[in-house]
This record gives sequence, structure tokens and C-alpha cells, in this order.
Amino acid sequence: MQNEKADVQLSTIIRRIKAWETDNFMQRVPPDFTSLFHQMAYDSLRQTSHFRVEHTCIGCGLCAKKCPVHAIEMRRGRPVWVKEKCTMCLGCLHRCPKFAIQYGASDRHGQYQHP
Ligand code: SF4
Ligand code: SF4
Repeated sequence: MQNEKADVQLSTIIRRIKAWETDNFMQRVPPDFTSLFHQMAYDSLRQTSHFRVEHTCIGCGLCAKKCPVHAIEMRRGRPVWVKEKCTMCLGCLHRCPKFAIQYGASDRHGQYQHP
């Protein structure tokens, strides 16, 4: 049942991407308590203060280069999150060649990159 719902939603998303539709997709309308709760949780998760860099960082700058919202700057050879919130794509964490970026209490999860 859930997969059927997801298929419908995916079809809509694919159609909109193919049509190059643009909008403020980060904006959410909280019509009820559940949505409000999700919005608050999402806002909390998006805080870049959750990220940290381990000593294994080699200062390659890939994380800053790949961040889609330019939330990372390289300063003295280390990444610094310069925005309070980001999109939480986790591209920086998953693309780091040294696995030096961690989020929250995590330290040894896997890395994934879309081929
Ligand atoms: S991608 Fe990883 S190794 Fe490269 S600068 Fe960022 S944290 Fe450091
Ligand atoms: S999670 Fe994505 S948006 Fe956030 S800092 Fe990393 S690359 Fe940028």
C-alpha cells in the first residue's frame, strides 16, 4: 500500500523534474499538529552545528566544493559551516574521501554516493 502511494508521488515528482518546474520546495505549510511537529524536527536536523570534522581531514576542499547551498567554506585548510542551516543532503559527509565528516553522535556509519 505504501509503495503504491510512493509510486504515485514519484510519478508526480518525475513529471515536475522533466518539466523543469521551479518553486520554493523547502517551504512547508503546517496545516495540523503533525506537520508542525515534522517541521520543527526537520528544522532541528538541518542545523549545521551538528556537523564536525575529524583529524583525518586532509583539507582537499571537496565538501565545500560540492555543497549545493555553499554552506561550507575552507578556512586554514579545514571545512567550516558558515550557514546556520542547510538542506541536509549529506553530500559532504558521504563524499569526503577520508570519511572525516560526522553528524551528531555518529562516527562509523557507511558512506553512499549515487553513481
Ligand atoms: S572533503 Fe573531507 S578531507 Fe576534504 S576538506 Fe572536506 S572534510 Fe576534509
Ligand atoms: S549536508 Fe549537504 S547542504 Fe548540508 S553542508 Fe553538507 S553538502 Fe551542504
